[in-house]
Amino acid sequence: MKTVLITGGAGFIGSHLCEFLLGKGYKVIAMDNVITGSLKNIEHLRGNENFTYMHHDVSKHTVVNENLDYVLHFASPASPVDYQKIPIQTLKVGSLGTHNTLGLALAKKAKYMLASTSEVYGDPLVNPQPESYWGNVNPVGIRGCYDEAKRFAEALTMAYHRIHKLDTKIVRIFNTYGPKMRKDDGRAVPNFITQALKNAPITVYGDGRQTRSFCYVSDLVEGIYSLMISNINDPVNIGNPEEHTILEFAELIKELTKSKSKIAFKQLPLDDPHVRCPDITKARKELKWEPKVELKTGIKKTIDSFKA
Ligand code: UDP
Repeated sequence: MKTVLITGGAGFIGSHLCEFLLGKGYKVIAMDNVITGSLKNIEHLRGNENFTYMHHDVSKHTVVNENLDYVLHFASPASPVDYQKIPIQTLKVGSLGTHNTLGLALAKKAKYMLASTSEVYGDPLVNPQPESYWGNVNPVGIRGCYDEAKRFAEALTMAYHRIHKLDTKIVRIFNTYGPKMRKDDGRAVPNFITQALKNAPITVYGDGRQTRSFCYVSDLVEGIYSLMISNINDPVNIGNPEEHTILEFAELIKELTKSKSKIAFKQLPLDDPHVRCPDITKARKELKWEPKVELKTGIKKTIDSFKA
């Protein structure tokens, strides 16, 4: 039986990964300090004998008294509202947390995966974004704490791969949605669903013509797993390449909730990317992976989970 450490294991994506890997027969240790995650996300796993929870801030020295086969570093605030509230913790978990987990993986002779992000492409001048695009990031802007932490984390991961020959993977995660997202995390999907269910105004920032491409969480987790067990060491984009304007998303959520909400246009936050869409040619070719869940199906499941 292989053992996996998942930092951020009580977070939105981390907790889905815990569940998925337990299902695949792995022993799972979830580590979290629940700054943005929640123990509720893993409550149902705590009776499982192959599951352990460790309360720890991975930005501090990290000790695990068990053999590890994989270290998956998924701890980080990821919603713009969250990371702009706690930029220093965000920079620390991306830098010190990545250093600590890389060191741990090296000591345990474990394989390593870094959860990176489409934010490394910043406000992209190339659309869709292939992995070869270097990005357009404002290092001193309000998103810099997240973007630059993840860019540093990628550089450190590649340095451990090149210098220490650590078997490392980098997954660049694009916008993801699904059950277990925090209703108040400030991101588009939870905001729109919560507002629509209350018939409150749906807050669209700017003119709503900026684009995103949303991936349902079960698709994302399958992509992450394919990369985890692959021989690829370069970054791989995982996301859904179906691109829509934010206004289209708002209208869709309004329709699927049968809501009476009106659309309320609000000021566009600084440095909000104008477009975002993953080029998933590499994942399709090398992992034989592509998303399967249709947007409407995924949004309906998310709405149901929010209602419950
Ligand atoms: N957005 C919006 N209304 C909201 C929340 C977000 O119009 O209540 C917009 C936001 O400005 C961005 C897009 O939706 O253009 C996606 O935002 P999110 O916070 O989900 O993540 P991002 O992709 O910006 O990291």
